[in-house]
Amino acid sequence: MINPALFGGRSEGTSSSMAAASAAARSASAARRAERETSHLEDRFERLSLVCMAMWSLIQDKTNLTEEDLMERVKLIDMMDGVEDGKATKGVRKCRKCGRTMNPRHRKCLYCGAAELASSAFDAV
Ligand SMILES: [Zn+2]
Repeated sequence: MINPALFGGRSEGTSSSMAAASAAARSASAARRAERETSHLEDRFERLSLVCMAMWSLIQDKTNLTEEDLMERVKLIDMMDGVEDGKATKGVRKCRKCGRTMNPRHRKCLYCGAAELASSAFDAV
């Protein structure tokens, strides 16, 4: 069978080409948005690193703490979730009201709506 799209005729091929072009445009837009978000996160990461380095420099100036003390504490905090992975991952918690498992990224229980009580200043971050 001859495909009419090959000879300038109208067919489903034309509308599917338009759909493909539209999908490509949406993908390009999503890629640009992801690139902007990544750039924003990199900027925030650089600022946070700078502030952390400044704080550590001040702490060293005002105390007797050493680089080894810092590295030891980093490892201790890293291991609080049982895995040495270079991340301060929040562990799984149980809802204080219904006892179900709560996602550490959520501030309220998905099952009963109870708010998670902050046990550390970093819980509010
Ligand atoms: Zn609950």
